[in-house]
Amino acid sequence: MIVVGGGVAGVAAAVAAARNGAKTLLMEKQVVLGGLATIGLISWYEPLCDGKGTQMVTGIAEELIKLSVKYGFDRLPEKWGGEGKYAACNERYSTHFSPGIFALAMLEYLEENGVSLRLDTLATYPDVENGVCKGILVETVGGREYFPAKMVVDATGDACICDRAGIPTELGNNYFSYITHEIDREGAKELAETGDFRTARKWKNAGSDLFGNGNPEGKGFIQVISADDVTEYMIWGGKQVLKRLKSEDKDSRDVMSIPLMPQFRKIRRIVGEAEFDGSEDGIVIEDSVGVFGDFRKAGRHFQLPYASLYNRKVGNLFAGGRIISAKDDGWELTRVIPVAALSGEAAGTAAALCVKEKCSNHMLDRKKLQEALHVSGVKTQF
Ligand SMILES: Cc1cc2nc3c(=O)[nH]c(=O)nc-3n(C[C@H](O)[C@H](O)[C@H](O)COP(=O)(O)OP(=O)(O)OC[C@H]3O[C@@H](n4cnc5c(N)ncnc54)[C@H](O)[C@@H]3O)c2cc1C
Repeated sequence: MIVVGGGVAGVAAAVAAARNGAKTLLMEKQVVLGGLATIGLISWYEPLCDGKGTQMVTGIAEELIKLSVKYGFDRLPEKWGGEGKYAACNERYSTHFSPGIFALAMLEYLEENGVSLRLDTLATYPDVENGVCKGILVETVGGREYFPAKMVVDATGDACICDRAGIPTELGNNYFSYITHEIDREGAKELAETGDFRTARKWKNAGSDLFGNGNPEGKGFIQVISADDVTEYMIWGGKQVLKRLKSEDKDSRDVMSIPLMPQFRKIRRIVGEAEFDGSEDGIVIEDSVGVFGDFRKAGRHFQLPYASLYNRKVGNLFAGGRIISAKDDGWELTRVIPVAALSGEAAGTAAALCVKEKCSNHMLDRKKLQEALHVSGVKTQF
């Protein structure tokens, strides 16, 4: 089977599929894994807990949070398995991580789990006939290629495969954000004094936070319809940073990294068999494939419906990550790293079971899927 997109969701989907017996190929258009979490510089893993001391998200999403700090200087909070003098950086089960180190660790993780990887491989079109995706067309440095597939997981962050396969999709609204990673004299001094590298790496946002605070005047929401929108966004962000840099002492700081992919929060999502809308706080869902909290507010509990991962129009295609069928506040809740990994794992597991059972997405036995997720440590009920 094929997983398109090597962000956290795609990595989780591919590992889950391979562990469940599917011969799995992960294709990624960039040459680095991790998507927004790494080359997009979003190096803060939102919490796996509910903010009241109970762990919600488990399974591969938890393996990934551990992996994100395994070889770097960041630490998990003491309560959640951290150690040493950097412990307890936050009460919630969340952490900063080094994007570069996390990306390298994911390469090793894929290899250990038997996933085949194809970098620099842009999936262009799904080959769909009579509701079945028979393969994926790609463009690479070697030209056009075709990969046949029994099952496909779209984890592209923009649902381009599902969209081009004829599945209904919706566009998201985005504020302008442009986050860079920087170092300055004060941070370097603190690092020299304390030995703590975390004091040296600084997030700087030239635009808006997730609530719209800081959105440039006169600019409303941006939707991503064409490369022109992406270009406008990247030029706008770059200009803001350059304007600030010009006003600073040029010997006082360095920009360690600019974002290497556009930092849109919500590009496009599928309209699946169920639409999770965020009003389901505390509600038990029969076909739940995982539980999670609200990264913004303590004490909320949600279950992710299996039916938000597909649309039966194409029986062997799943969505994972920030493109699943979640609308309104549901999209906000499900797009963050831990929940993207959770839905990725669910999509990959379901796809592998569909191969085994020779069935299409809507025919899969929910109980069998939940059992497989439990084996991987995923909690599907509160
Ligand atoms: C400004 C901003 C701040 C955020 N802050 C946080 C935060 O603090 N904490 C948090 O947990 N989350 C945060 N998020 C959300 C989070 O970073 C992402 O939603 C999450 O990382 C999405 O993961 P994903 O794997 O679903 O998608 P992506 O990370 O977008 O991965 C998709 C991958 O697919 C690849 N791809 C796309 N199209 C193709 C194709 N056609 N062929 C091959 N490969 C393809 C891409 O290159 C990419 O690697 C933030 C997001 C933004 C934009």
